Amino acid sequence: MVYKETCTSCGVGLIDEGYSVFLCPNCGNEVIGRCKTCREHSTPYVCDNCGFQGP
Ligand SMILES: [Zn+2]
Ligand SMILES: [Zn+2]
Repeated sequence: MVYKETCTSCGVGLIDEGYSVFLCPNCGNEVIGRCKTCREHSTPYVCDNCGFQGP
């Protein structure tokens, strides 16, 4: 189980329900966090490890 404290896109703390945490689909080495708001708005994120960008 991967773990991340903050949303990768906006930096908000991942405490409310509805967030998701997953490994980068491109490199698989960076944990991506997405808060509920960013999921609902499909806010882009950028992987710190490989630079992959996506919703
Ligand atoms: Zn967010
Ligand atoms: Zn990556």
